[in-house]
Amino acid sequence: MNWEVVIGLETHTQLSTASKIFSGASTAFGAEPNVHTAAVDLALPGTLPVLNRGAVERAIRFGLAIGATIAPVSIFARKNYFYPDLPKGYQISQYEIPVVQGGTVTFVVDAASSPGGKAETKTVNLTRAHLEEDAGKSLHADFVGLHGEKSSGIDLNRAGTPLLEIVTEPEMRSSAEAVAYAKALHGLVTWLGICDGNMQEGSFRCDANVSVRPMGSTAFGTRCEIKNLNSFRFMQQAIDYEVERQIALIEDGGTVIQQTRLFDPDRGETRAMRSKEDAQDYRYFPDPDLPPLTIAPEWVERVRAGMPELPAAMRERLVADYGLSSYDAQALTASKDIARFFDDVVTKLGAQAKQAANWIMGDMSAAVNERGGDWSRPPLDAPTLATLIARVGDGTINAKQAKTLFAELAAADTPSADVDALIAARGLEQISDSGALEAAIDDILAKSPSQLADYRGGKEKLFGYFVGQAMKATGGKANPRQLNELLRKKLAG
Ligand code: ADP
Ligand code: MG
Repeated sequence: MNWEVVIGLETHTQLSTASKIFSGASTAFGAEPNVHTAAVDLALPGTLPVLNRGAVERAIRFGLAIGATIAPVSIFARKNYFYPDLPKGYQISQYEIPVVQGGTVTFVVDAASSPGGKAETKTVNLTRAHLEEDAGKSLHADFVGLHGEKSSGIDLNRAGTPLLEIVTEPEMRSSAEAVAYAKALHGLVTWLGICDGNMQEGSFRCDANVSVRPMGSTAFGTRCEIKNLNSFRFMQQAIDYEVERQIALIEDGGTVIQQTRLFDPDRGETRAMRSKEDAQDYRYFPDPDLPPLTIAPEWVERVRAGMPELPAAMRERLVADYGLSSYDAQALTASKDIARFFDDVVTKLGAQAKQAANWIMGDMSAAVNERGGDWSRPPLDAPTLATLIARVGDGTINAKQAKTLFAELAAADTPSADVDALIAARGLEQISDSGALEAAIDDILAKSPSQLADYRGGKEKLFGYFVGQAMKATGGKANPRQLNELLRKKLAG
């Protein structure tokens, strides 16, 4: 039997506000336990939540970026459950009326990961994105109590951190699509500056809802939800494992039970955590401590006016203004930092676009990745790369010399260098003086009578031999284009 995979993703993005969603405590990561806690976060009696305007602003930003409806009025609700890291006994979230409704995310599944073997563009509908508070953390492993005893601890630093939970329709059909969507969403929220995107610190974590159904069937199968996937690789592995598990289970005559599962990266498998609760179990009701969130059209317009150019618009610009392929445009807009770097080199400093794209996606990306992937501190800064590209373009040095210079500068960790001074100091200028090149060519032809005869007799492959000899004679400094032209002329006799 052929099975179809159905996936919907819920993503918790931590919003990049300085303070929490309902208190003035800091959202900074990594402090001593319970240092960043205001009375509200500790659920002290008599305290009241006050909504952080910055969190709402970021939600509006996101909604506008995906073409969603920004609800003029939305409601905060209490989601009731007990857990030691949730001292109030409920989480403040949005339920029936979320702040962001609908919208779409478009992304590319590249050829290498696409099940069909060729790159595919896909658009997924979003159901909603709602504001909510994060819970605290329970510390179990290696936690030592006040008297040295083995113990569990509660850290409420994270309690009340603002989250935007972004929910898709069940429209993805493979783990590759789910990962491509998650990467695009990660790129978008960091591009918008609403989330720092740090997955190790939990600023961007996904729950994958996975089910299978016989190919051609219209009814959905029963889903399992894999919680808290905080790396794209784990997401891929977890979904692939879960799909295999469900298919094997059904083909053996069993049935999938709706469950919440956890992925164990060490074993590469998902394990049941609890049977899935339904919304009714949470006894949602509007939070009487918070008035409805009203967003006036003027507020939306103010946020719209401050929006940066979005990745999709930039891709169109790169294709229209610079004649780049959509593949290049996609790669150059993979993150805000790469895009900004490209715009600095090309739009501001006037480097040739296709050359800049090749450098950025090639040597530059490799060097950045070697240093941990931070594009805001590149191995060569924009002016240095722009000059390097210009010197190849005007024939001062050739591409191979430029690559060598690049590698040296990157290795020496000197992001801003005087490229022209380096070229002069090393005597790297290409020989573009046709007199000197002609003399070198004449000399070579005189020394290679048999090769010359063979070439003229039809062995055109020998052209490379003459190029090689001329390069050798000029110490690799002959301007390749000019050398080619002169050689052809001389060889023709
Ligand atoms: P909750 O997880 O809070 O119960 P929903 O029932 O709204 O919320 O569903 C959450 C996610 O599960 C959504 O992303 C949705 O697309 C996805 N989903 C729902 N049904 C299925 C299914 N049968 N297979 C895969 N994903 C599903
Ligand atoms: Mg869920």
